[in-house]
Amino acid sequence: PEIAEIERTHIGLYQDFPQPGVLFRDITPLLRDPKAMKSVIKYWASTVPGDVDLIVGTEARGFVFGAPLAYEMDRGFVPVRKAGKLPGKPTSLTYDLEYGSATIEIAENAVPKGSRVLVLDDLLATGGTAAATIKLVESLGAEVVAASFLIELLGLGGRDKLGDIPLHTVWSIQ
Ligand code: IMP
Repeated sequence: PEIAEIERTHIGLYQDFPQPGVLFRDITPLLRDPKAMKSVIKYWASTVPGDVDLIVGTEARGFVFGAPLAYEMDRGFVPVRKAGKLPGKPTSLTYDLEYGSATIEIAENAVPKGSRVLVLDDLLATGGTAAATIKLVESLGAEVVAASFLIELLGLGGRDKLGDIPLHTVWSIQ
């Protein structure tokens, strides 16, 4: 099936989840269908801009798309996790949320200085998560080649939070 068609048929829409006023996009119907998933991963891999050494994906849905994309691209995958999940001496970054703050971590030595990284998540909304992930990767001396998302929700200011980092999406929708 055509990529645009898969967005209509395989992404669920839930009004007022997880909070009133939020229109939630549910990616689980896409995960449930191997044909659609293969089409999306192949399309995604073929449209990634530039040369990439590593793919860094954000917990948790960034893992679900980042690992198959990395496999398809024949590149390594590195998870960015919520605090307290990684062994050894991970590098941490704390960032502000609407209410409170969050801390994310990446394994020591997983991303070498100078490597070219694709930062990936399932969805770009306000851009807070992506901006923090980019900052964490850059703090290791790596270069973020692009930030890549299955879905960009337009009108929430996400792309403005990415600074100079090129944005790459499978679907940009209202
Ligand atoms: P942001 O930090 O506001 O850009 O939110 C992006 C993060 O929240 C990503 O890690 C998404 O997985 C999650 N997220 C926000 N809105 C949705 C949604 O409608 N569906 C699925 N995930 C969402």
